[in-house]
Amino acid sequence: MDASITSQVATVKLLIDGQFVESKSTQWRDIINPATQQVLARVPMATQQEVDAAVTAAQKAFKTWRKTAIGARARIFLKYQQLIREHMTELAALLTAEQGKTLPDAEGDVFRGLEVVEHASAIGNLQLGELANNVATGVDTYTLLQPLGVCAGITPFNFPAMIPLWMFPMAIATGNTFVLKPSEQDPMVTMRLVELALEAGIPPGVLNVVHGGEDVVNAICDHKDIKAVSFVGSTKVGTHVYNRASLAGKRVQCMMGAKNHAIVLPDANKEQTLNALAGAAFGAAGQRCMAVTTAVLVGEAQKWIPDLVAKAKTLKINAGKEQGTDVGPLISCAAKSRVESLIERGVADGAKLELDGRNPAVAGYDKGNFVGPTIFSGVKPGMSIYEQEIFGPVLCLVAADSLDSAIDFINTNPNGNGTAIFTQSGAAARKFQDDIDVGQVGINVPIPVPVPLFSFTGSRASKLGDLGPYGKQVVMFYTQTKTVTARWFDDDSTGGLNTTISLK
Ligand code: NAD
Repeated sequence: MDASITSQVATVKLLIDGQFVESKSTQWRDIINPATQQVLARVPMATQQEVDAAVTAAQKAFKTWRKTAIGARARIFLKYQQLIREHMTELAALLTAEQGKTLPDAEGDVFRGLEVVEHASAIGNLQLGELANNVATGVDTYTLLQPLGVCAGITPFNFPAMIPLWMFPMAIATGNTFVLKPSEQDPMVTMRLVELALEAGIPPGVLNVVHGGEDVVNAICDHKDIKAVSFVGSTKVGTHVYNRASLAGKRVQCMMGAKNHAIVLPDANKEQTLNALAGAAFGAAGQRCMAVTTAVLVGEAQKWIPDLVAKAKTLKINAGKEQGTDVGPLISCAAKSRVESLIERGVADGAKLELDGRNPAVAGYDKGNFVGPTIFSGVKPGMSIYEQEIFGPVLCLVAADSLDSAIDFINTNPNGNGTAIFTQSGAAARKFQDDIDVGQVGINVPIPVPVPLFSFTGSRASKLGDLGPYGKQVVMFYTQTKTVTARWFDDDSTGGLNTTISLK
């Protein structure tokens, strides 16, 4: 991290009270293209005063925003979804440049966020209370789902469009104001989305952005005027955020790290299963919280290893912006070294390296953070490659002799983000969906991320807090249910016209 701005590289701005402003910080960090190491821009580590200013602006805006008509809020998100569609190509190119994923994947990243924006535009149907008539004679009870106040979001590097869009649209649509802290590794596409949100009509102070790392996150967790914090990122940081922000009295939800298993039964459609495994393990360079990192091959399916290796070898490793790329670079040099050293540990721990993706030759991009598809067989609990979230294109293969033992194996792993089964047996799939202790289950679907009509429902060690992001659950997360019990005496139900006022 550099101590001052010394170059002419563009700077990423803060958004405070409707104004994009240059930070006064002395701490800045480079945003680097992971395929080339080119410095694209510099991002500030915001000061405590800047965090305070963002929260103050959000608090001020809340006074009027909380009473803004639901239709007016909904129409902003209708316009916003249109603007995102119109700028899709530009957004995807920006995302690929700073994050590394392929252009189709980058469009997917934006699109999955866009679906949440579309859902936010239906807020009129989502933020409805309940009413029970005559709970006692002449008494009604009803609920109001009221916004909390200033809410904050802290996002990871791997989905710099989708995950910010999981957060601020629904928080704002439900009547809150928001302070967003994007990943400092790739905040540029997030900022472009924020610009479009203002263009769609989000008023000054309703959405604010501060940049930074640990210090800014801690300032958000501790801030007395922030009511709720939504976090997505690693388990280590998420646990810290959950404890710190909860202690400060906030409502907190943390979606965290994963180790996702897929069971392959021998009756599965082989070609479709191998394609699905390759895409889910190596796509986005394995940097998805829902990536399949472990395949449990049951019985005869263990004979498919050479076919899986052959399939993985067909994937093209290249810069994300090049056409036909399947596997782009990892986010940083540090991420690349970490993945490479875990591969080394896997070999040392006794797993069989079926395919080694280290040091692939990528013409024209010799400085890129590339690791190609890597496959280990004979993986066992206790090995570092199984115990740690690798977050790279590395697939671990485990053998099991029955569906029951495969399910037990997965349930013994502490994580519960996602899982899948590949089979043509309805009975096996039904048993799996009933007995597996993981929050998001795919049946012949490798990455079962729910659309926003539902919520993201990772479980166990992959999540802290009861309610998930987006969908129905997030309406509850971003609102306080108020129960009103009302009695209106019927001794004067004429509105004062019965005795005293004459209409003549
Ligand atoms: P990360 O935890 O390093 O960073 C997430 C956020 O926390 C960033 O905004 C970062 O600035 C901040 N941060 C980093 N270090 C911090 C510290 N010491 N104290 C306070 N804040 C800190 O995660 P990442 O590397 O950006 O993202 C990858 C991780 O996110 C993976 O573990 C992945 O599984 C997880 N993830 C989970 C989901 C999910 O829905 N479960 C979705 C996407 C990513």
